[in-house]
Amino acid sequence: MASKEELKAMGIEVRECKECCRDISEEEYKKYKGYCKNCYEERREIERRKREYNSEDEEFEEVEGNGKNAVATIVKGIAVISAIIGIIVGLVSIDALNSGIMAVIIIIASIISSVFIYSLGEVVQKLQNIEDNIMK
Ligand SMILES: [Zn+2]
Repeated sequence: MASKEELKAMGIEVRECKECCRDISEEEYKKYKGYCKNCYEERREIERRKREYNSEDEEFEEVEGNGKNAVATIVKGIAVISAIIGIIVGLVSIDALNSGIMAVIIIIASIISSVFIYSLGEVVQKLQNIEDNIMK
């Protein structure tokens, strides 16, 4: 191969490959975005594999959870169950507590706390959605 000086004398601008520092012609440099042909093809292959790997990852996640966060789903489930239990306990205890007011308080308290628990689950799900969007 002709030396750098010889190429320059022939009017060919010599550049260096960004990867292996091999002398390459200006034409090759521009064509392969600053790399020699070999390095460019190597890099392209690596990029292709990365994309392949990422797309497999996404498919895997979709099968796993379909965008739903497991913690959020469990928290929401607990909220609904505790609301139901609270209402049942309140209704059952009307006779035992002698006054209906106490039963009403139990029911209202359990509904309010369930709403808070449910909103916590909603927050967890929203954070998961934000994280998913950032990853994309
Ligand atoms: Zn190279």
